[in-house]
Amino acid sequence: MPLTAARRTALAVRLDLAILAVGVGVAVPSVVVWLAGGGTTNAAGVVAMALIVVMSRFPLVLTHKSGDIVIGFETCALVFLVLSAPPIEALALWAMGTTIANATSRKAWRSRVFNIGLTIQGGGLFVLVFSSVGAGTDHEALELLAVMLGCAVYFIFDLLMTAGSLALEDGCSIAEVLRWRSVPLGLACFVGVDTLGYLAALMQRSLPAWTLFLLLVPVGTILVAVASVSRTKLAQGRLSGLLEAATQAPDWTDEAQIESALVSKAERTLRHSEAVLRETPAVPPEIGAAVELAGQPTRFLVVRRMTSSQDFDEDDQAALEALVAVGVAALGRRQLSDEMRYLARHDVLTGLHNRAVFADRLTHALARRSPQRIVAVLYCDLDGFKEVNDLLGHEAGDRLLVAVADRVRSCLRPEDTAARLGGDEFGILLDSLNRSAQAEEVAQRLLDALVPVFQSSGHEIRVQASIGIAYADTEHLSAEQLLNSADTAMYAAKALGKGRTERFVPSMRADDLMRLELESALRVAVREEQINVHYQPVVDLNTGVVNGFEALARWTHPHLGVIPPDTFIPVAERLGLIRTLGLQILERAHLGGRLLSARAGRPLRLSVNLSAMQVTDPGLADRVSALLREHREVPLVLELTEGLLLGDDGPTISALHRLKACGALLAVDDFGTGYSSVGYLHRLPVDILKIDKLFVRELNNPRSLALMQGVIAMARAMHLTVTTEGVEKWESAEAVRDLGCDFAQGYLFGVPVDLPGALEIAGRGRIDLEYLRVLER
Ligand code: C2E
Ligand code: CA
Ligand code: CA
Repeated sequence: MPLTAARRTALAVRLDLAILAVGVGVAVPSVVVWLAGGGTTNAAGVVAMALIVVMSRFPLVLTHKSGDIVIGFETCALVFLVLSAPPIEALALWAMGTTIANATSRKAWRSRVFNIGLTIQGGGLFVLVFSSVGAGTDHEALELLAVMLGCAVYFIFDLLMTAGSLALEDGCSIAEVLRWRSVPLGLACFVGVDTLGYLAALMQRSLPAWTLFLLLVPVGTILVAVASVSRTKLAQGRLSGLLEAATQAPDWTDEAQIESALVSKAERTLRHSEAVLRETPAVPPEIGAAVELAGQPTRFLVVRRMTSSQDFDEDDQAALEALVAVGVAALGRRQLSDEMRYLARHDVLTGLHNRAVFADRLTHALARRSPQRIVAVLYCDLDGFKEVNDLLGHEAGDRLLVAVADRVRSCLRPEDTAARLGGDEFGILLDSLNRSAQAEEVAQRLLDALVPVFQSSGHEIRVQASIGIAYADTEHLSAEQLLNSADTAMYAAKALGKGRTERFVPSMRADDLMRLELESALRVAVREEQINVHYQPVVDLNTGVVNGFEALARWTHPHLGVIPPDTFIPVAERLGLIRTLGLQILERAHLGGRLLSARAGRPLRLSVNLSAMQVTDPGLADRVSALLREHREVPLVLELTEGLLLGDDGPTISALHRLKACGALLAVDDFGTGYSSVGYLHRLPVDILKIDKLFVRELNNPRSLALMQGVIAMARAMHLTVTTEGVEKWESAEAVRDLGCDFAQGYLFGVPVDLPGALEIAGRGRIDLEYLRVLER
């Protein structure tokens, strides 16, 4: 059973300590015996000891993929000592020298412990081999052979012990750790350099002591060369690790792969080490580098040495940082490409899929459909979204879309696809329905989900949606055709009153064509200013005197004939033409108004209808203010619907005050329809209430009558003028007059007519009420 890393480390520590113990077992007796013998040595002995300390600083490093094998040349001093002093003294000096050298090195404690034990044992072995083979011989060649044999034994012992320690810690075999091919070279270097010690001993025997100093030159040269070779090898290792990482980085694709590559490349670059990616920074003797990536918590690539061999230096730190930079760049590229992929498939605002993905999935769904697997598309368009955008601003509009998207999501199953198809349009693909009419259920869920009010920067926003449903029930239907069908059904839902769903039927196509024709014709009509204005008189109910006219837009289409404003004004709003069209109508109506006042010889009020989107249009305020300055003879009334006045939206309220300040009168149009609140009336600068024609029609209903009474009484209390619309019968005219209403408008007094017709009415100046009364009888 393989050992765990922790268990292996524990064993390796024990091995380190055992080696130290054996080393101490060799060193202590020899030192004690030497001290007992007087503990003296000559100058050469002292120099040799110093050399041990110096030379141990310049080891030869044999690189290996999982770590370095480090061989010291201080044994050269050992050779000298053994040849020039008694064995006990030599061993004692060697033990003391290597202990000092290792104890003062900056390596990790384990490595020092291991090295002290190992070098003392090696020294002991050398003394043993030399004494048994070459001691006391007069034959110098034999003596040299004994030296070389001792050195070789020392080298192999050191090599095997070090490799064994590495293997134990790595959990592999010694054979795997050893780089056999580098052994002969290492051995040759080692033995060769160590013979310098023999040379020194020979010189000491036969030459004056000072000649020994001559040896410092070759020894120094060798040490410098070895150090530089070792450094180069390490640097090469680092460099090739980095190079490998840099060349492979473009192939790293997913984040997990990049992270594991960083870890393995760190271990490869800083050989014989263990790397982890973690949240805490490195603690010495570990080294680390921060992996910093936008939008992610900082992590650290931390490396620690696996064995006692060597500490990290500045170059290792720099290499680690370079490696992390390579990894961060790869991660950055990965993130960027993830983002780009996401953007290519999603709507940035809502996070829903985009049109392209929707079309793609729809195509696939159509290919897979079967009687058991029904495909349907819902086309969902918000009602009144443009108003939210215009009145509350685009930011509020955006927030609303995000909130709507969340609710859309909440209605769907994971297998359904929701996409934002454009502005306020959402598409939903249901591709695994098992019975017809299921799409209607989903659509209803959607409508229900939109009912609770939305909150946006202090505003309560109500939205509803019109949903078109199209089932893929005919063969050979393309994704585009199905989506178009759903779109057409959506327009039908809008036309039939909004806030509802409609299922596509082929007859809708004709309506659709008509809509398209209408839209393009309207663009032309607005561009060429073909929209005309008709005028309907507003009459004083008590006297019949014409008080003014309401301007009503009229469009005569070349093929479609007369198109009512109820139809084309919403289209103009949808197409974004309303501001231009509104200004055209204002201009034309006002010209008519001036002519009408001139014909009457007195100021006649001119009422112009405004749509919600026009109110905040600064162009309108400018124009209104200019017209009122230049033509005081025409009092201008701006008619607004209740819905617009109900919200307490800042920009709208200040726009109304601005219009009011220019001198315009403000009228609430269609009063009493839809909204029951009157709370807004005292907050807003309103002058006129126009009671909707519905009330006139219902006057024989006592509740309607009571309501009318209440409204008129309230309006009087607030000094508001009341005009009743849609008066078609004398009976109604009388009834509302008796309720206290001042003015009226309706077919009874005059239908909307073109300017010449209106001029005729203005010229007469009044409607003959008596005549109307008699006529009715
Ligand atoms: P509204 O402001 O309520 O305009 C009054 C509508 O009632 C006019 O319809 C008018 O022709 C009609 N009407 C007048 N007297 C009677 C009557 O005795 N009985 C009945 N049944 N109806 C009567 P029209 O001209 O079709 O306008 C419809 C709506 O279109 C207007 O309702 C107004 O909201 C909008 N509109 C018309 N002109 C413009 C315009 O220039 N700009 C804007 N933004 N909206 C306009
Ligand atoms: Ca009106
Ligand atoms: Ca009205």
